[in-house]
Amino acid sequence: MALIVQKYGGTSVGTIERIENVADKVIGWRDRGHQVVVVVSAMSGETDRLIGLAKGITARPEPREMDVLLSTGEQVTIALLCIALEKRGCPARSYTGGQVRILTDNAFNKARIEDVEIAAMRDDLAQGRIIVVAGFQGVDKDGNITTLGRGGSDTTGVALAAALKADECQIYTDVDGVYTTDPRVVPEARRLNRITFEEMLEMASLGSKVLQIRSVEFAGKHNVPLRVLSSFQEGPGTLITFEEALEAEPMEKELISGIAFNRDEAKLTVLGVPDRPGIASSILGPVSAANIEVDMIIQNVSYDGTTDFTFTVHRNDYERALEILQEHTATLGAREVSGDLKIAKLSLVGMGMRSHAGVASKMFGVLAKEGINIRMISTSEIKISVVIDEKYLELGVRALHEAFELDKAA
Ligand code: ADP
Ligand code: ASP
Ligand code: MG
Repeated sequence: MALIVQKYGGTSVGTIERIENVADKVIGWRDRGHQVVVVVSAMSGETDRLIGLAKGITARPEPREMDVLLSTGEQVTIALLCIALEKRGCPARSYTGGQVRILTDNAFNKARIEDVEIAAMRDDLAQGRIIVVAGFQGVDKDGNITTLGRGGSDTTGVALAAALKADECQIYTDVDGVYTTDPRVVPEARRLNRITFEEMLEMASLGSKVLQIRSVEFAGKHNVPLRVLSSFQEGPGTLITFEEALEAEPMEKELISGIAFNRDEAKLTVLGVPDRPGIASSILGPVSAANIEVDMIIQNVSYDGTTDFTFTVHRNDYERALEILQEHTATLGAREVSGDLKIAKLSLVGMGMRSHAGVASKMFGVLAKEGINIRMISTSEIKISVVIDEKYLELGVRALHEAFELDKAA
C-alpha cells in the first residue's frame, strides 16, 4: 500500500463532469489499496474571473482581501469533489488550507509554506477516508488567509507529499507530461520520460508553466518523487528526478532537454547615463526598494562617457518601474528612459550544455537565419536565454526545436 498525493489542475476540474471523472480516478487508486490525498485547483478560469471582479473596483486591490477572494475558487472544488466521492460511497473529507493548517508567512498573494500539520489528515487516512485539500492557499500565524502565487496548487501538492512522506506526488494536468517545449506551440514537441530537478527548475523559472517553480524547489529540497501526468489519458507521464538517477541511464542524457519561453516580461532602458562607478546601483536601488524583481540586465559599452542600461521586470511591474525611473531621470543625469512591453524571453535548457561549447553560437545562428534580432542575452551553466521581439517568439521556438532536433529522442 502506498500513500499518494494527487493534484488536479483547473482544466481537470473545469466542469462537473470532469470533477466526477476525477472522483472515479481517485476511487480507482483507493480500490488498488492506496491511501490518497487529493489537492485541487479552482475550476479553470475561476481565479482569473475573481481577479477581474476585484480589478473592476480598483487597479490595486488590497493584497489581504485578494487572498480572501481568490481562496474561494479552491473551496468550491474541494466541496464538489467530496460530494462526488460520497455519492459513489467513498468516504471523503474536504479541508481548506487553514483547516489543514498549512502555515505560511504573511506575504499575501505570494506566501511561502512554512509548516503543514498532518495529525488530522493521518487520522482520516487511517479511517479509510480520501482527503481533499484546497490548493494554492494557507493561513498565516495570525489566522489570515494567504495564497501561494499563480499555479500554487502544485506547491500545495508537493508540500503535503513532503509532510506526509508520501510515496509519490502526482501532478495531473491537461498534458501527459513535461515536453521538450510547450506542445501547444510546437506540436512536434516530445514528452520526456524523465527530467532532472535542476532542468525542471530552470524550465519553470524561465516560463514553462506546467509546474510552479516553488513546487519544483520544494520537491528537490525534500526529496519528493514528483510526476506530471494527464487527467484525461493513461500513461507514465514524466518523472522529475535527481541527476544521479539519470546517470544510470545515459541514453536519456541529452544536450538540450527543452525550450522555455516567457511572455510575462517587459524591458526598460535608461539612455545616456554617465558611465561612473555606482550607476547600476543608483538605477536599480529605487526599483528594488519598490519590491520589483529585476531579471536580465545589460549595460552597454560607454561612448562619450555615457552609457545605456537595460533590464527586464515582470510585466505587472512595468508601469511602476517606468514611473520610478522617470522620477529619477534627472538625478541619474540620464538623457531619457524608454520601455518595451512587446518582448519575450526564449531559453534553451539542458545539463548537457555544461560539457558542450557551441550551443550558444548555434542558437544565435538559427535565430539569425530566421531574421530574429536578439535584444539581450544571458547564460548560466545549464541555460541560454535571449530576449527577442514578442512577435517572433513562436517562430523562434519552432526553429530552435527543429534545429536542435528535440523531436527526436537521443
Ligand atoms: P493546470 O491547470 O493543470 O495546473 P497549467 O496550465 O498550469 O495546468 O499547466 C499545463 C500547461 O503547461 C499545458 O497545457 C501546456 O500548455 C503548458 N506547458 C508549458 N510548457 C510546457 C512543457 N514544457 N511541457 C508540458 N506543458 C507545458
Ligand atoms: N487557482 C490558482 C491559479 O489559477 C492556483 C492553481 O491553479 O494552481 O493560479
Ligand atoms: Mg498549473
